[in-house]
Amino acid sequence: MLIEKNRVVSFHYRLSEAGAGLIEDSRAGEPLLYLHGHHGLFPVLEEALVGKSAGERIEVTLAPEQAYGPRRENAQQRISKSHVVGAGKRRVDFKPGMTVQVNTSEGQRTVVVTKVGLKTLDVDANHPLAGRTLSFDIEVVAVREASEEEIAHGHAHGAGGHAH
Ligand code: ZN
Repeated sequence: MLIEKNRVVSFHYRLSEAGAGLIEDSRAGEPLLYLHGHHGLFPVLEEALVGKSAGERIEVTLAPEQAYGPRRENAQQRISKSHVVGAGKRRVDFKPGMTVQVNTSEGQRTVVVTKVGLKTLDVDANHPLAGRTLSFDIEVVAVREASEEEIAHGHAHGAGGHAH
């Protein structure tokens, strides 16, 4: 079965940055699932996967603009430690370089700690992979028809997909 709109794709991927080596390899766990044609992956990746079938492999390099966007200047902020999700319930040993979730007026977002103060943190609100040229090595594991429920929800259900 070929990959096209409203089919669920099970896949493994290896994510690396040119010149900087491996960042993530999904083979440590189960394959991931996505519903094709519903913005589950970066658009360039979905385009490259059209017409592929189980067992095929593709390698796609994405410019920052096609992935997590360019790094923004002015994304450095000083925040209260109390804005970190979960910080009220347990003592967190903050360290530069660690990724934390913070509550903002636009919901939760992931930031990287750059400096630790007594009651505040300096954080970088850029996505950790912003500004990087990324290479995805994707192996299609299986392709199946989506259920009506999956199409209505706009995402794949089951292990490796959306759980709710
Ligand atoms: Zn759903």
